[in-house]
Amino acid sequence: MRRVLLLATTTGYQTRAFGDAAERLGVDLVFATDRCNVLDDPWQDAALAIRFHHEGAAIEAIARAAVEKPIDGVLAVGDRPSIIAAAACEVLNLPWHPLTAVTIARSKRLTRERLRDAGLPAPWFRSIDLSADPRSLLPVDFPCVVKPVALTGSRGVMRANDEPALVAAFNRLRSIVKAPDIRGERSGIHDTAVVEGFIAGREFAVEGLMTAGRLRILAIFDKPDPLDGPFFEETIYVTPSSAPSSDQAAIISAVTQAVEAIGLRHGPIHAECRLNEDGVFVLEVAARPIGGLCARVLRLVEEEASAISFEELLLRHAIGQNVTRYEREQGASAVMMIPIPRRGVLRSVTGIDQARAVRGIDDVRITAKPDQVLVPLPEGNSYLGFIFAHADEPSSAVAALRAAHARLVMDIEPEVRVLQSVHG
Ligand code: ADP
Repeated sequence: MRRVLLLATTTGYQTRAFGDAAERLGVDLVFATDRCNVLDDPWQDAALAIRFHHEGAAIEAIARAAVEKPIDGVLAVGDRPSIIAAAACEVLNLPWHPLTAVTIARSKRLTRERLRDAGLPAPWFRSIDLSADPRSLLPVDFPCVVKPVALTGSRGVMRANDEPALVAAFNRLRSIVKAPDIRGERSGIHDTAVVEGFIAGREFAVEGLMTAGRLRILAIFDKPDPLDGPFFEETIYVTPSSAPSSDQAAIISAVTQAVEAIGLRHGPIHAECRLNEDGVFVLEVAARPIGGLCARVLRLVEEEASAISFEELLLRHAIGQNVTRYEREQGASAVMMIPIPRRGVLRSVTGIDQARAVRGIDDVRITAKPDQVLVPLPEGNSYLGFIFAHADEPSSAVAALRAAHARLVMDIEPEVRVLQSVHG
């Protein structure tokens, strides 16, 4: 039986989807997670408990486990696990993205340097210690974007149109990186910010799979909602892209050059880029697949066979199968990451059945829990939930998402009222 090590910070949809795929394929999946987060781990007994912030010890634990029972492949979900995965694969001599490349991909500063040095379109950028005075960067061209060097999901990413906005964004970022989940990583990486030129244009996401240095594009996603700031909340992803084929070719070419410049070689990649009259600007390339529930938007088919999940494709790839026969299924597929409209305590979401009844809607999943404090961007790092749609045309899939979203009614109570009622 083939054994695959799955590294993830927490369990969730994607780890379960890998579990299901492993069962179907008869693969023994070994789950390695941060010890603090295994409480809801369905495979707790079998899980390998490691500490992501003790990288050396984590690799040793993985290497020891592999001596007892050899590991044939590795999968990682999330940015930090992708670093451990790369280090583990170097020790276990398994094909994966090199650790140096994953380290560059994780850092927005190192990525900028690489892309600039490779001659790819890039905005001006400067990195600065968060404890420094951002006015020391002046003069800069506005608008600009202030961002943390290694957070994800647009957390802490803010547009500034003038000097006061730059200073305000900096102050806000300083408090964002004090959040317990970020401090808990015990990494100095979050003490640095990048300030860079704002790139106007349409935005795309690209999902790809690399095999021995060759990139195969699985999907280009349009992001039909404008992302102009001041914060950059992603909402809708739809594929196939409606961009002209010449633009799609330019996107593929830019992402291919970017992965080469960064040095990524083997495993999934997820890239974000912007397109305008000056070309394709690759914002970043993550050495991991599209995250969490969102991955459900991708299903793959091989000739007449029934569709498989994206996780099954990745698992097959991890055990060395040739997966080039698999193509994304026919038709348009779209997902909406349901935005958090305002800060407050979630009391309820109603209208879910009505939203599901919209033609083209596959599913509506509310992932936020009742009584959870909802925190929008730039401080927050989650969504209210996800809506999935299928249609013949991308525009119909997007219309279905919007119609379903309009049927959801969210009861969000301001936090203050909650505090008042607690204290009588
Ligand atoms: P994250 O890894 O948190 O997603 P990114 O650097 O990809 O951080 O930025 C998140 C989003 O912010 C991008 O998808 C884009 O919409 C916007 N953004 C980031 N940098 C720029 C920029 N230089 N110009 C315009 N928009 C940007």
